[in-house]
Amino acid sequence: MQVTAFAAPAEGEALVRTQIQRREVGPNDVLIEITYAGICHSDIHTVRGDWGPQSYPLAPGHEIVGTVTEVGSAVTRHSVGDTVGVGCMVNSCGQCVHCKAGDEQYCVEGMVGTYGAEDRDGTVTQGGYSTHVVVDADYVLSVPAGLDPAAAAPLLCAGITTYSPLKHWQAGPGKRVAVVGLGGLGHMAVKIAHAMGAEVTVLSQSLKKQEDGIRLGADHYFATSDPDTFESLASSFDLIINTVSAKIDVSAYLGLLDVNGSLVNVGAPAEPLSLNVFSLLTNRRSYSGSMIGGIAETQEMLDFCAEHGFGAEIELIEADQINEAYERVLASDVRYRFVIDAKTF
Ligand code: NAP
Ligand code: ZN
Repeated sequence: MQVTAFAAPAEGEALVRTQIQRREVGPNDVLIEITYAGICHSDIHTVRGDWGPQSYPLAPGHEIVGTVTEVGSAVTRHSVGDTVGVGCMVNSCGQCVHCKAGDEQYCVEGMVGTYGAEDRDGTVTQGGYSTHVVVDADYVLSVPAGLDPAAAAPLLCAGITTYSPLKHWQAGPGKRVAVVGLGGLGHMAVKIAHAMGAEVTVLSQSLKKQEDGIRLGADHYFATSDPDTFESLASSFDLIINTVSAKIDVSAYLGLLDVNGSLVNVGAPAEPLSLNVFSLLTNRRSYSGSMIGGIAETQEMLDFCAEHGFGAEIELIEADQINEAYERVLASDVRYRFVIDAKTF
């Protein structure tokens, strides 16, 4: 099936409207008519070659919400008319210890990414900047009725990528959580950590978004451009979630952790990060990472957000504005996620 998509023709080039191929609906597949697609900074890293060479043309997009329009003969999980979501992963082996534990993102054979990955049939997957997508039903989430579908789209990546480490490192009452970077992931980390009951601090480059940060649920807000911030907050957090898309001074942020505290990197900059090990030895600190979340956990996160009555803060755009939106994301000028209206593809 030929469908319309927005794709980068080559590394670093602007995205253009084009036609891509979707597979026929197999027995365990669902066909989704896409209604909204979020723009994640990972889309930009990928099409600019930050993470290495890709196959082109490449249509990004792994924050997908849409309506089921056809289901394969073996599908029981979703029905025609359902509002559903697809995140960063469209397949995994399903058999290994991690898949069985619900951590399909850490599949021993490697998860199949929603775009730019080799699919089981040898073709390269294409993402959600498109009118339709065909996905294995086991990797399709149900979007709860209480969520606005446009504001739900960013939950499929920004939501789960922050929910999973916040849960794993037990953010909750009595935990002091700092979020570095108030962008797409960062603003979800603030909302979710606040809803989990943690004391939340935003560490942003400036105080420009302070009012927003407090409205989103932060208790405190500091500018990292002010050197006093690192002195006054020394050893004062249990958990820091770093969502920054660029290189930061890891040792300086580690210095903000109390005894047994953890700094979790979810940001994925092109350049390697380095640190001074003494910043780890002091206070028995940990430095770790986390990648999206499993399918069951993603459903749990969607239900959690619906229960707490929030989606993402979005700016709805048309497909022709994608390239301009990319520039604004790169300039940290996003409040707080661009979502593309799929009617305009
Ligand atoms: P985003 O919306 O651009 O947010 C990143 C934020 O980082 C910016 O808003 C800005 O916040 C801060 N920042 C940017 N450049 C900076 C710099 N040079 N120094 C200090 N702070 C800076 O991006 P996103 O979509 O949230 O994604 C963030 C990162 O996470 C990307 O690298 C993305 O690829 C990665 N990611 C990882 C996963 C995973 O599974 N681990 C999943 C999705 C995305 P302030 O203006 O508040 O300073
Ligand atoms: Zn993403």
